[in-house]
Amino acid sequence: MKLSDFSLAGLKNSLTSGETTSTELTRFYLDRIRQLEPKVNAFLHIDQKYALTKAESSKPSDSPLCGIPIAVKDVLMVEGMPATAGSKILKDYMPPFTATAVKKLEDAGMVIIGKTNTDEFAMGSSTENSAYGLTRNPWNLDRVPGGSSGGSAAAVAAGMVPVALGSDTGGSVRQPASYCGISGIKPTYGRVSRYGLSAYGSSLDSIGVLARSVEDIIPVFKTMVGKDPLDATSVKSPFTPRKLPNGASLKGIRIGVPEEYFVEGTQDEVESAVREAIQQLKELEAEIIPISLPHTEYAIPAYYILASAEASANLARFDGIRYTQRESASTLEEVYKKTRGKLFGEEVKRRIMLGTYALSAGYYDAFYGQAQKVRTLIRRDFEEAFLKVDAIATPVAPTTAFEIGSHGDDPLSMYLEDIFTLPANLAGIPSLALPVGFDDIAMPIGMQLMGAHFSEELLFDIGKFYQRETDWHKKKPKIV
Ligand code: GLN
Repeated sequence: MKLSDFSLAGLKNSLTSGETTSTELTRFYLDRIRQLEPKVNAFLHIDQKYALTKAESSKPSDSPLCGIPIAVKDVLMVEGMPATAGSKILKDYMPPFTATAVKKLEDAGMVIIGKTNTDEFAMGSSTENSAYGLTRNPWNLDRVPGGSSGGSAAAVAAGMVPVALGSDTGGSVRQPASYCGISGIKPTYGRVSRYGLSAYGSSLDSIGVLARSVEDIIPVFKTMVGKDPLDATSVKSPFTPRKLPNGASLKGIRIGVPEEYFVEGTQDEVESAVREAIQQLKELEAEIIPISLPHTEYAIPAYYILASAEASANLARFDGIRYTQRESASTLEEVYKKTRGKLFGEEVKRRIMLGTYALSAGYYDAFYGQAQKVRTLIRRDFEEAFLKVDAIATPVAPTTAFEIGSHGDDPLSMYLEDIFTLPANLAGIPSLALPVGFDDIAMPIGMQLMGAHFSEELLFDIGKFYQRETDWHKKKPKIV
């Protein structure tokens, strides 16, 4: 058994028993990063010194996370490490503070090993929009790892870290988890403080966890939740593990299967693997109920208007005056134009223009106002569904990981990949992605379980149950 086969609980046990130390563990993962990083490019910053100093001072404690390494997506601030958000405009930026979610993990003794690659400002579904080069999928180096948390997903899948943090505004934790054959949680909006997360679409943003199994996600998630005075939208929500009504099966759990998520355009193998997983839940005595979420088809236009509108306001702060990078110019206006024109990537500029247009006088009601109404309808679809079911099972994405460059000239075709993940963000509900099979070229397939607000504990229970009965989450890419 290799260290990289261990679960977080397994790592914790070997730390407690004295079989290994945090320093050994950290060196082990740093070595794997050294070996695999030239192929995968999952990291934007690897901080050996920071990690080893932290590991060496790690003292035995009751925390299940103490001494365990973790990687953090580069949109999250960690004092002492650069934070670029995958953008040239933040090159060399050293944040003077640490994100609350990260701080809580550090306080629990976790060892931050580095910052992972991301689409610029988390805008994308493939990690190809990073200004610092793309990340490759450890299952097939010619394919994308998904995005925007592609660096975190690839790092976990390749066993370079046991667990990593990502952010999810429209699917950026779940879709890369699915493409890389691992598990990922997008929490209820507000359950984890967003303080210290580079803001993209503030009403949609959430910080999530990626790990090989649901079991490994839980202690990390549990440590991050709660009200934070530094984020007014965060809410008090203690983690209260719940027990399934009948511990031996899923009896009493109602799982909804929405017809709108099994439509033409979905890869056959994706549909059949997800249907098979649902059948397995049924064999575990869950009740399977066909449902309808009729406004699903409007999620893409509504999301891309709202997320871009919010992004256009959030990204106004990168003006060449604040932060690190400035293009030289003779007037203030020229500083803005040159800095933003040169240092933002194509996709970010596209979103800023789209968002600014959607918010402009005369068009506001037709675009932004209309998208907000659609958002309400989507939220109501879920509210109604959760009167009848406890969780909703669907594919994470219509296809498995696509080839690098295949959506290159067509941003819209990339947006369409997000159809199944966007609704959870628009509704603010939690969603858990977990591996349920492979397609015929051995790329992983993911299923998502969406739940009502604050139902993460239930989703984890169902996911754990499924993973106890299956071993998709134990499969590893050959590269490992
Ligand atoms: N692919 C979506 C977008 O580009 C979602 C990204 C995310 O969740 N950060 O907006």
